[in-house]
Amino acid sequence: MITCDVVVVGCGGVGSAAVMHLARRGLRVVGLDRFTPPHDRGSSHGRTRMIRQAYFEHADYVPLVLRAYRLWSELEQAAATKLYHETGLLEIGPPDGAVVPGVMAAAARHGLDVSQLSANDVRRNFPGFVVADGMIAAYERRAGYLRVEQCIAAHLDQARAAGAVIRSEESVQHWNATGSGVVVTTDREQYRANKLVITAGPWAATLLEDLNIALHVRRKPQYWFGPAAESYRADRGCPAFLYETRDAQRRDAGVFYGFPIVGPEGLKCAEHSGGGDVADPLNLNRDVDDADLGRVRGFLNNSLPGVTTTLVDHAACMYTMSPDENFIVDRHPRHNQVVFAAGLSGHGFKFTSVLGEALADLATTGSTELPIGFLGLKRFQS
Ligand SMILES: Cc1cc2nc3c(=O)[nH]c(=O)nc-3n(C[C@H](O)[C@H](O)[C@H](O)COP(=O)(O)OP(=O)(O)OC[C@H]3O[C@@H](n4cnc5c(N)ncnc54)[C@H](O)[C@@H]3O)c2cc1C
Repeated sequence: MITCDVVVVGCGGVGSAAVMHLARRGLRVVGLDRFTPPHDRGSSHGRTRMIRQAYFEHADYVPLVLRAYRLWSELEQAAATKLYHETGLLEIGPPDGAVVPGVMAAAARHGLDVSQLSANDVRRNFPGFVVADGMIAAYERRAGYLRVEQCIAAHLDQARAAGAVIRSEESVQHWNATGSGVVVTTDREQYRANKLVITAGPWAATLLEDLNIALHVRRKPQYWFGPAAESYRADRGCPAFLYETRDAQRRDAGVFYGFPIVGPEGLKCAEHSGGGDVADPLNLNRDVDDADLGRVRGFLNNSLPGVTTTLVDHAACMYTMSPDENFIVDRHPRHNQVVFAAGLSGHGFKFTSVLGEALADLATTGSTELPIGFLGLKRFQS
């Protein structure tokens, strides 16, 4: 039996940040992962993750994302590496859609620097993008991408430097609350700790089974295409993009996103909406799905016609959807010594730096000054 102050289960996006924050507070922390993070088996791989401030999903995320930007910058300085690349972000959609009106509302509420554009403005300023008459757009300058695997590696390096022990290729089978502490059983060891942090991504439902939260895992492919016109390169001013097509108003389909060309792998593009159910995240189908690829190619042909839709690379990933598509970050209602983040619903990576800090607060003091109240379990109680 190994004893420590805190066990963190899962050292992916959120867990790597939590381990670092906890270790920096002088605690004896053990981070456990069934793979060797950063890895491509969970939800945090594929080179890039979008980061943006004017949050159309829910304006309450804005203060959290602003704190996340600051923490990413501090991590870059501590690790002496560049993680955030500011490319700007072009968001396009119908005037009665969810994206552009939501972006403009969040920007107005929080005083963010976002410009609303007409279809003609987009054609003039971003000639690589085709926009139908009647669509509108928003341009956010303080947005871009994070290098996802490097972010996790940097958090884990900093965690180790602060004294944390990261144990890879070790799978947690179950945990038990014992008095005010926990016992965590893996396929190799048992750990006794005062606190437990669960950040298991697509496997959260298994480790938080007793909470009975309906978490659904979706298969989400990512694609890289090329060659493409020079105007789609980040160093030629091409922004990241998020495009809500008219289809998105009728069904869960037709929201596409992507990143400008930043390396030999070409332009990344994928569909944010939809995705097949994943019954067992350990057995995710990683093959190319022709129907899914066809939809992304169709979008590119219509909207970014200067990109050749020859596939250069692909990767399958997973979204873990909560019932309302907002994260769930809280203490376990029956075991105060257990805290967790789950159901990041396909938009959580940009927040992982701040969620790690929030979990460290919850685990050490039982509360946090970070504005995460809207992400609590309570909202499902009614
Ligand atoms: C294709 C795709 C595109 C995305 N794009 C964006 C984007 O542009 N911007 C954005 O902000 N977000 C985006 N997201 C969402 C974001 O990447 C995820 O919300 C975030 O990475 C999830 O982090 P996590 O820590 O919850 O999960 P993970 O990073 O998967 O970490 C969970 C970890 O727990 C470990 N684990 C699980 N169970 C056990 C166990 N029993 N024992 C030991 N270890 C265990 C796993 O091995 C894994 O390392 C995207 C997601 C996908 C799939």
